[in-house]
Amino acid sequence: MAGYVYDFAEGGMAMKDLLGGKGANLAEMAGLGLPVPPGFTVTTEACRVFLATGRPPEDLRARIDEHLAALERAAGRRLGAEEDPLLVSVRSGARFSMPGMMETVLDIGLNDLSVLGLARASGKERFAWDSYRRLLQMFGRTVMGVDGELFDQEMTALKQERGLRADTELDTDDLRRLVDDYKDVVRAATGEEFPQDPAEQLHRAVLAVFGSWNGERARLYRRREHIPDDLGTAVTVQTMVFGNLGPDSGTGVAFTRDPATGRRGVYGDYLPDAQGEDVVAGIRDAVPLQELERISPDCYRELRACMQTLEDHYRDLCDVEFTVERGKLWMLQTRVGKRTAQAAFRIATELEDEELITADEVLRRVGGEELTRLMFPRFDESAVGEPLARGVPASPGAAVGEVVFDSAEAVRRAAEGRDVVLVRRETAPDDLPGMVAAKAVLTSRGGKTSHAAVVARGMGKVCVCGADGLDVDTSARRFTAPDGTVVAEGEVVSVDGTAGAVHLGAVPTAESEVMHWFETGERSEGVVDAVRRVMDRADKVRRLGVRANADTPEDAARARRFGAEGIGLCRTEHMFLGERRHLVEEMILARTEDARRAALDALLPLQRDDFTAILEAMDGLPVTVRLLDPPLHEFLPDRLELAVRAAEERAAGRTPDPRDAALLEALGRMHEQNPMLGLRGVRLGLVVPGLVAMQVRAVGEAVARRRRDGGDPRAEIMVPLVSTVKELRAVRREVLEVLAAVSAETGTDVACPVGTMIELPRAALTAGQVAGEADFFSFGTNDLTQTAWGFSRDDAEAEFFPAYLEQGILADSPFETIDTEGVGRLVRIAVEEGRAAHPDLKTGVCGEHGGDPASVHFFHRAGLDYVSCSPFRVPSARLEAGRAAL
Ligand code: ADP
Ligand code: MG
Ligand code: MG
Repeated sequence: MAGYVYDFAEGGMAMKDLLGGKGANLAEMAGLGLPVPPGFTVTTEACRVFLATGRPPEDLRARIDEHLAALERAAGRRLGAEEDPLLVSVRSGARFSMPGMMETVLDIGLNDLSVLGLARASGKERFAWDSYRRLLQMFGRTVMGVDGELFDQEMTALKQERGLRADTELDTDDLRRLVDDYKDVVRAATGEEFPQDPAEQLHRAVLAVFGSWNGERARLYRRREHIPDDLGTAVTVQTMVFGNLGPDSGTGVAFTRDPATGRRGVYGDYLPDAQGEDVVAGIRDAVPLQELERISPDCYRELRACMQTLEDHYRDLCDVEFTVERGKLWMLQTRVGKRTAQAAFRIATELEDEELITADEVLRRVGGEELTRLMFPRFDESAVGEPLARGVPASPGAAVGEVVFDSAEAVRRAAEGRDVVLVRRETAPDDLPGMVAAKAVLTSRGGKTSHAAVVARGMGKVCVCGADGLDVDTSARRFTAPDGTVVAEGEVVSVDGTAGAVHLGAVPTAESEVMHWFETGERSEGVVDAVRRVMDRADKVRRLGVRANADTPEDAARARRFGAEGIGLCRTEHMFLGERRHLVEEMILARTEDARRAALDALLPLQRDDFTAILEAMDGLPVTVRLLDPPLHEFLPDRLELAVRAAEERAAGRTPDPRDAALLEALGRMHEQNPMLGLRGVRLGLVVPGLVAMQVRAVGEAVARRRRDGGDPRAEIMVPLVSTVKELRAVRREVLEVLAAVSAETGTDVACPVGTMIELPRAALTAGQVAGEADFFSFGTNDLTQTAWGFSRDDAEAEFFPAYLEQGILADSPFETIDTEGVGRLVRIAVEEGRAAHPDLKTGVCGEHGGDPASVHFFHRAGLDYVSCSPFRVPSARLEAGRAAL
């Protein structure tokens, strides 16, 4: 714990928790012998102390000073000295990459005297003054809290006065004047002078970077990426190197493989005579990395060698930031790079082919969410005409939405449920809320490594950037395409992140390659082949079975194509809707035993046909049929609508339809305060005579029919919402009687497993008893979550979850990802006690959680036999089940 500060030589990539990703990887690169400007890293632990107490640890300043002194000795230069000053950057870097979300201050150590020393040492006056004004601007904004806009205004005013257009046209005198203007801005805004003492600059910058952990941008990004709020950032202090010292200097970013497609081969952008932050900010357009080969073949060769070393070492795609200072290459950052879903599958399988990683490692490196993304539709090529504009395909996918020109408008329209496309010249960290809200991001400047591209890719959001034919006018809220077409705010465009094109209007979409393969089994090269290999491996190693929730033969067939090993939940209520509604109404309205019987008898053949078709689609695989679950009034028309209709009839002097009157009366009779906790599930079966018998008979007769037709039906009957074994015992007796009767009538043994859902805490807690009457348990984690938390899902998600997520009371919605501590504990208890009482008990889950990657891992650990989820999520669940088994 002592220390709080580590020199690059003392760290390594295993220390990410303490040194952050950036600090740990810089140390790792230094250890590999790559050219890294010397420096040290202040730990996240020191940051956590600062965030908790408002003050840095007692001896932090002394620790930093020791390391600075060592740095100065090694360099033979002193921070901010009058002659040949050492300058440093103060860089944020957390455990998880949060690109551009926190602060970094460059050129620390410059003041009124050292700026002259820098000018002499470099022989470049203009460069020295430009660095000084950058420091004033960055330090003023980040450390002293001055509104950045105020600096921009000074800059604009000066350029106007001098009749200049670009920052680069400012000469030394202009920059000297700007330095004075910026100092005035700082003084006016804070009542304080810009600190001339280099040590004070350094220490204040460190604390400001700590503080940027809790900046608005950073918090929003963490929530979205599910990064915990209490990790804190490390701070790296590093010797400055300069890419803006002339044509033999420059800066760039590069990837060891293409992060969009996964294709092999170095990929990157280079900006001659510029500093690192200029690339990301898109101040000037970068050139492809290959240009560096022309400008400085030696540097290029060395960079390629560094990148090869990194890829071999990390055994993965790496991205790097580098700077060339007067022909000398410096590596400023590396990390295992973010990539698109497509690239993730491709790179992992290619690394396996290159024998750098094993098949299991491949599985670790891709996830269900990425797979799902690959199943999304893309634009139908036959329907795509000439695009409005082309740009860089920065993040793939197809998105259609209304054009908006700023973050706030994107957020506003998205909140109204509209799809929007955020159009900017380039994006900055402040645009993050709008990027989160938008379906796609479109920019007219910047390449694959621009802010827009990097952030969109990380979020899996469609992005086309650098569509340079577009003239984006954010203040007039419109853009103009190369052909002169003007597109105003609110007009609809289609953004093709795969092809890198923008189309006017809504382009129809077509199924993705991966989806096509799942649907048809037709193999193809590229990503489909990579996905196929990964799926084969996952299926081979997974222990957890994967079934689908399907209510129709079509869904069942599709689920089967996606690899489902049966149906874990077939909801019979869906079969009660549509044209059959009147029969259901008859059953509910029936006042006499005979009338009810008649209504049920009419429903029987319909249900039997449904089950027959589903059993056929899932021939040879289990089909778990759940008895009717929702409260009956859900099958009746809306009460208010009926009342209004009756009132209108009366007002028009007519007599209301007597059927409406009966329905109204029934609705009044059946009204419940809390239908979710009311007459539903097994309770219905016990209260409405004949309902269970009809449904079970339909299943039994369907089984008999399928057998007679040579099929292999594997029905299972599931009783919902049981809280005590007595309910289950009563219903089960009826189920067995009916099945026995059907067996006798048809001469076919239609006996099948009878089980129960575990979706109420009491059932979970008395699972030992319940298991005595059940052949299987299926966890209904939706209701189990509602009842364990006492949350009504629909109300909670709309009313207070946003506040809970905001305040950090919840990290995820427990309806999306299973709450392992509470709900998960109930699951574990039920599995354990259920199995103890009934060793052959089968267990599965059929709530929405069955398709959620993190939840699948929990269900694996809890020892369930299978998960069941919507057909579309079956492939993802198979993949995650495989990963869970590693
Ligand atoms: P981020 O995490 O937002 O990428 P960085 O800490 O990487 O922030 O720094 C922002 C920019 O400043 C990057 O382009 C980086 O390369 C550049 N930079 C940081 N430290 C130095 C340094 N010591 N010398 C030169 N450029 C630097
Ligand atoms: Mg960086
Ligand atoms: Mg339920």
